[in-house]
Amino acid sequence: MRAELLAIAQQLAALGLNKGTSGNVSVRYEDGFLITPSGMDVVEMQTSSMVMMSMDGTPQSTGKPSSEWRFHRDIYQAKPHVGAVVHTHSMFATTLACLQKDIPAFHYMIAMAGGDSIPCAPYALFGTQALSDTAIAALKGRKACLLANHGMIAIGKDLKQALAITQEVETLCEQYWRALQIGQPYILSQQEMAEVFEQFKGYGSWNQS
Ligand code: 13P
Ligand code: ZN
Repeated sequence: MRAELLAIAQQLAALGLNKGTSGNVSVRYEDGFLITPSGMDVVEMQTSSMVMMSMDGTPQSTGKPSSEWRFHRDIYQAKPHVGAVVHTHSMFATTLACLQKDIPAFHYMIAMAGGDSIPCAPYALFGTQALSDTAIAALKGRKACLLANHGMIAIGKDLKQALAITQEVETLCEQYWRALQIGQPYILSQQEMAEVFEQFKGYGSWNQS
């Protein structure tokens, strides 16, 4: 599992979704979760750098856990079906998060995040319980959210699904950003989004729980 977690952290860097020490990833394991280390560039990470955490926030192995272990832990506790959490400072999600606005249903694929918007959690200092609390509220009924003036979080049943959702959110944010450059995008109605949810049943690997 340490190797799988490291591979996803490396993939996030290879895809340009995280750079340097930005972002973190975790995976549920036994009674707790494994998480990437704090403040370490992905190129320096090894399987032994991954930190095993118990649900009370105590490290069970050597190394310093990501400063964001609280929202990772709180997501696992709030959502029993979630098996992996990805946090990035990816370019377009972060750019839009600086506007402190939800991403509306400008494209039908917004539904893959679980609703008719990708909510933006209000700003809170990184590494705090306050950030975790705002993130948990924004993730209600959602598989992804933006973090104001910070980045984004995507969750999935496993690492593969969480990565797929991360990539899709970043694509949507780039498309929304581009559309805003040339006009006011049309926002799909509640009825149009209801049809999307119906059509989505059983569609896409990120949609399977
Ligand atoms: P860590 O290196 O502690 O995981 O922090 C990176 C980050 O993205 C903080 O929000
Ligand atoms: Zn961050």
